[in-house]
Amino acid sequence: MDLGIAGKWALVCGASKGLGYGCAQALVREGVNVVINARNAEALQETAALLIADSANAASAGGPKASKPQVLAVAADITTEAGRAAVFAAAGGPGRDFDIVVTNAGGPPTGDFRDWDREAWIKAVDANMLTPIELIKATVDGMAARGFGRIVNITSSAVKAPIDILGLSNGARSGLTGFVAGAARSKIAARGVTINNLLPGKFDTDRLAATVNAAAGKAGKSVDEFRAAQQAQIPAGRYGTAAEFGAICAFLCSVQAGYMTGQNVLADGGAYPGTF
Ligand code: NAD
Repeated sequence: MDLGIAGKWALVCGASKGLGYGCAQALVREGVNVVINARNAEALQETAALLIADSANAASAGGPKASKPQVLAVAADITTEAGRAAVFAAAGGPGRDFDIVVTNAGGPPTGDFRDWDREAWIKAVDANMLTPIELIKATVDGMAARGFGRIVNITSSAVKAPIDILGLSNGARSGLTGFVAGAARSKIAARGVTINNLLPGKFDTDRLAATVNAAAGKAGKSVDEFRAAQQAQIPAGRYGTAAEFGAICAFLCSVQAGYMTGQNVLADGGAYPGTF
């Protein structure tokens, strides 16, 4: 299916690896020009080269788009005002706005809520609630004026099924989810702009590896043993891949997904046990 977004400009935050990378890869394969962002300049340059090579391979293998999308790397901390200004300055030249924005940043640490002080909360709220809101604020009116826009926020399945040790994430992301529910249904909805949240369950990324390694150590199990037991509890019998996550993100950014807004789309291999 041609997603109808070749030639558009996208911002994908937290894209040097993991889920952000998966989203950037899927969009570039669709012929979308992408500004990728992460904090480490060297890692990000490598990612840009990888994305360009991947899209050339996909195109020569008869992949979705034969066009040559641009990939621009902007190393910056997206949770800061200066970082956001830097990515906007790179959006295909002065005055060019993004058509697609994928908001993402590292998740907050795990722990016991008794240990989190105001500073810990402000950091989590800044990264996982206020930063996406700032990115939405800066882009949706331009999208609405042009009649097309897609925002996808990478949140977490913890919004739907909270995990006790992820209290900072549960709280900050639920705040974003409430905001999006209202903003997506505001006047921009009738002007071609959609805002949706994409909720990952367990995807095999560096972040997952870090939490699994720590949990395996605590449980006195080997990492392999722990991973096998955890995957056996997921109805799909495995972790998800960043490429699968990216494909769902690209669909949410497509022309075809224009009637879908304000939704929380769960991708968790069936782990959430509810009917809805
Ligand atoms: P990851 O650690 O593999 O990758 C995170 C990416 O974000 C990296 O490119 C990193 O450099 C970048 N990044 C981090 N902080 C940044 C900042 N301040 N500014 C710019 N870039 C920044 O993580 P992931 O597994 O891809 O997870 C992405 C998001 O999804 C996180 O918020 C995570 O908590 C959430 N999540 C992941 C899973 C999972 O199973 N992987 C599950 C639920 C939620």
